[in-house]
Amino acid sequence: MDVPANSIAPPRASATRERPNVLLVFPRFNQNSFWSLRAACDIYGVRCPAPPLGLITVAALLPPEWNLRLVDRNAEELGPADLAWADLVFTGGMLPQRVDCLEVIDLCQAQGKTVVIGGPDATSSPEVYEQADFLVLGEAEGIIDSFVQAWKQGDRTGRFQAAKFKVDVATSPIPRFDLLRTKNYLYLGVQFSRGCPFMCEFCDIIELYGRVPRSKTPEQMLAELQALYDMGYRGHVDFVDDNFIGNKKNIKKFLPILEQWQVERNHPFMFSTEASINLADDPALLRLMARANFFAVFVGIESPDTNTLNMAQKKQNTRRSLADSVHAIYASGMMVLAGFIVGFDTEESGVAQGMIDCIEATSIPVCTVGMLTALPGTQLTRRLQREGRLLPFTDLGRGDQCTAGLNFVPLRPRREILDDYRRVVQSVYRPEAYFGRVRNIGMLLRKKHGLRRTPNVPPARTAKRDLIALLRLMVRMTFVRTDLTLLFWRTLIWTARNNPGALHVVATQMVLFLHLGEFAKFVVRDVERQIDAIDREAEEPARADAGPAVRATARSAALTR
Ligand code: SF4
Repeated sequence: MDVPANSIAPPRASATRERPNVLLVFPRFNQNSFWSLRAACDIYGVRCPAPPLGLITVAALLPPEWNLRLVDRNAEELGPADLAWADLVFTGGMLPQRVDCLEVIDLCQAQGKTVVIGGPDATSSPEVYEQADFLVLGEAEGIIDSFVQAWKQGDRTGRFQAAKFKVDVATSPIPRFDLLRTKNYLYLGVQFSRGCPFMCEFCDIIELYGRVPRSKTPEQMLAELQALYDMGYRGHVDFVDDNFIGNKKNIKKFLPILEQWQVERNHPFMFSTEASINLADDPALLRLMARANFFAVFVGIESPDTNTLNMAQKKQNTRRSLADSVHAIYASGMMVLAGFIVGFDTEESGVAQGMIDCIEATSIPVCTVGMLTALPGTQLTRRLQREGRLLPFTDLGRGDQCTAGLNFVPLRPRREILDDYRRVVQSVYRPEAYFGRVRNIGMLLRKKHGLRRTPNVPPARTAKRDLIALLRLMVRMTFVRTDLTLLFWRTLIWTARNNPGALHVVATQMVLFLHLGEFAKFVVRDVERQIDAIDREAEEPARADAGPAVRATARSAALTR
């Protein structure tokens, strides 16, 4: 039977333009990274720590009639059928995802798919991603409409740049949480604000999101949490804010409303976040966070040395006892995780011991100790460029700041810095030292002010998963990690007797050690390889006599291993 011309289905090209199939692909993080938390994921029976909040926010900004699917390469494979389905592929991520992100672009383009790249690393280093068909740079809310319009009018390449720091996050939609397989993740993320008022020299956050924090409204935030609640999710939710207390006025308005919301639903979520250490100066704010069921805060301590903190423009960490500040946070019932950095210009030879002492005095079990890294677009990178000290750093996408830092010519001998770095990592991740700090926080975490609940009690709905994880941990610590058996049981029994309310936190810290202890050994081996390479270079007399330019090249070669 002949079909009249006007009844023929519209050609695919037109469907592609109006209702494209969009595949959102989240690239893999480098596996050898502090935050990959592999062993912890095994214990909890999940595939990776956290889902791609940025990509599902972009998904919410796309036209509702577009067909969307998500593949998180940290949790699942990107198969040929996924690519065959897609008209368009959106991808992008952070620096430790760069290697895989470039692979994703290659894979997609080999199948003739149009690739759109965005996210923080593409925004900081667009030149790395020139091969993508579309570059959508900056905060998506400020630019995605221009891309959509270009796509609909038939463009198949283009570059779009959002105006910096202009997005009003109060208009940001609820992320498409429905695209996630929540069972794959240790925890989920939400975001209340972007930006941070401080000006640390090495920080790329303030370059990407500005120094005037922009917040969502309390109603908007509760709508996001309600969406998670309605999906049946319970448990750990991380506020991924750059500095949760960047705008104290707004956060103090929001927290009592959040507390009320939690009480009405019998505390479905436990929260964590990142904040500057001046949180410790505000007892009212600490109380509000604890009452809303925040159980953990990541704080950038960076260095125990005041000169170094001043030079790094981290003045908020000076004129205080770091140990007293951290203990004030513990006293509110929240635990502290912290970041430390080795490799600043003003460091002296005592830096390693000073840092080890600081970590012991603050009793922080989980410390990311990294090497200073000049991240693209930061004040530090600009200064080092001016001073002619920035090195071409081919390994930047390979690891994280623990193995791929010091991408510049330091003022102290590189070997000395590496040696100090190795000493700190080796010392703070000795099992006796780590479990000792875990026991300390088990004692220091006190009942939250004015709450009937003991600190850090997980929601009832996650009890089964937590119990299974605890049993797996017991088996692993007793029969597999026999080197840790005594420390584990001593710490567990001691906490059960002295502060049972802190058991959940203490058990979590011990789970984390299964990854962190092994990762520390990997870092130490990696640093030792770098030190050996420097020693070998020094032993070659021809090179030793060859002058500064060749020595700089040798340093660079040692870095790239
Ligand atoms: S406090 Fe943190 S987020 Fe703020 S500028 Fe310093 S490093 Fe960046």
